[in-house]
Amino acid sequence: MEAVKKREKYDAVVVGSGLAGLSCAYELSAKGKKVLVIEKHPYAGGRTSSFNDNGMDVESGLHRYIGYYSALPALLKKCGVKLTDIVTWEENADILVKGENKKLVLGVAPLWGFGKTVRSIFGNNGVLSWHDKLSVLPFFACGFTGCLFSEKLDEISIAEYADKHHVTERAKRLIIEPMSSGIFFLPPENYSAYAFFGLFAPAIPKFYKMRIGAFLGGMTEVMCNPIVEKIKSLGGTFIFNEPVSGAIVENSDAAQEKGIRIIGVKTESGREYYAEHTVIAASLPAAKEILNPLKQRRELEKLFALPVMSAATLQMELDRPALEKDITTFGPGSDMVSFAEQSRTTFRSINSNKKSALNDKENIAEEKGRLSLILGNPDEYIDEEPQTVLETVISQMGELGVELSGHVTDYRKVTEKNEFYSLDIGSQKLRPKQKTGIDGLVLAGDYTITSSFATMEGAVISGKKAARCCIKQDRKAEKA
Ligand SMILES: Cc1cc2nc3c(=O)[nH]c(=O)nc-3n(C[C@H](O)[C@H](O)[C@H](O)COP(=O)(O)OP(=O)(O)OC[C@H]3O[C@@H](n4cnc5c(N)ncnc54)[C@H](O)[C@@H]3O)c2cc1C
Repeated sequence: MEAVKKREKYDAVVVGSGLAGLSCAYELSAKGKKVLVIEKHPYAGGRTSSFNDNGMDVESGLHRYIGYYSALPALLKKCGVKLTDIVTWEENADILVKGENKKLVLGVAPLWGFGKTVRSIFGNNGVLSWHDKLSVLPFFACGFTGCLFSEKLDEISIAEYADKHHVTERAKRLIIEPMSSGIFFLPPENYSAYAFFGLFAPAIPKFYKMRIGAFLGGMTEVMCNPIVEKIKSLGGTFIFNEPVSGAIVENSDAAQEKGIRIIGVKTESGREYYAEHTVIAASLPAAKEILNPLKQRRELEKLFALPVMSAATLQMELDRPALEKDITTFGPGSDMVSFAEQSRTTFRSINSNKKSALNDKENIAEEKGRLSLILGNPDEYIDEEPQTVLETVISQMGELGVELSGHVTDYRKVTEKNEFYSLDIGSQKLRPKQKTGIDGLVLAGDYTITSSFATMEGAVISGKKAARCCIKQDRKAEKA
């Protein structure tokens, strides 16, 4: 019986249940394909997951939904998830000025928060002079047009590009750094100008959609599990807790130039799963590991050349909220690149036994706090003891005017070592396509080439594109 089960053949086996894997599995299942998803963790979501770590609810990292996303909300809708049930909207973000006890309020919703956007342009005068503000205009104007028409911007860092356009030092630190390091944890000196403008460019034609969404619950719970359930209802199968160790290669002389075909995967527990299509939707380092025997193949050149970067977060429970409101906050000039209080939004459960009103100042003294923080220079924190990281965070948050000392009741360091493709200069041209050129093998993941970057939206688009490759190949085979 076991042998028969092992030999069961699927239309597609998808490795990884992050948003790329889920998006691909959904598209294939919806087309009637028999799909198996294999995930190494006991839960779905990958870098958009949430789980309980020894009594504390944590997440893979602070996430924000950007209003112009379209593939992710479309997938959610098809899976019966109403976006407004799972996110709450922010119309502005705060930028704390290190050592000055001041903040810059940045309007992020030109239509929905029109007043706040206008105030953020004409106000903030105690923080930025008109000279600082005007200095960013040519920078943004040239950057967005340049980015729409050429990938040449990928040859220059955003810091260099800002210097070229005479952006003042203060505007560089208080506007450009939060929009680069604050989002992708890389210093502006490394951050590709293409990735910088490319991330925001879709917001220009869709400016009326632009705002930022904070999740109203753990991402596995509110976003990924409903997708899993939908895929199951369409006949898909999931196996959790099962790390894939390698691809099964037919004509297994991997060095041979022609004639190889991927016919499935094997797992660390020794099981083998066979399929017409093998979709590797694991993150970049895991994909490299799984496909390592094929490293010399010309078709996988870009996959193996694409550099990686890490993410490090510290998540804290507090005896009171750290910030007045649950909104995205940046700490330029420090390693506290972005953070948010979440006790009234994502982790409302922390106060579930109390009457909690969203952003109600009167209740703050009685409420517990929950702060999620993304650290800049992540590699320095990956191997650091959590206690040492906490001490650094308390000290640097103090410089930003946020007092945490004596208020932290529990904390976790959550890291994603090398899980990202690097948004460093020159990376764009190394992002591989979903179609590999090797029979039976398709890639999915935010690192594969899409119109987006290392985002939830990019992951979903990549999954859709991967599914399209499988379906096209099936049609070709049927015709032949
Ligand atoms: C701290 C942080 C903050 C972020 N903030 C934002 C944000 O604000 N907005 C935004 O849009 N995006 C954000 N992102 C990026 C977003 O999370 C990712 O782009 C997206 O989730 C990537 O999805 P993916 O499916 O490509 O990869 P992953 O989510 O990494 O999925 C890969 C899956 O493969 C599984 N896997 C790996 N190896 C194996 C194996 N050997 N066998 C089986 N399974 C395996 C993993 O467990 C995982 O589930 C953030 C990410 C992090 C870490």
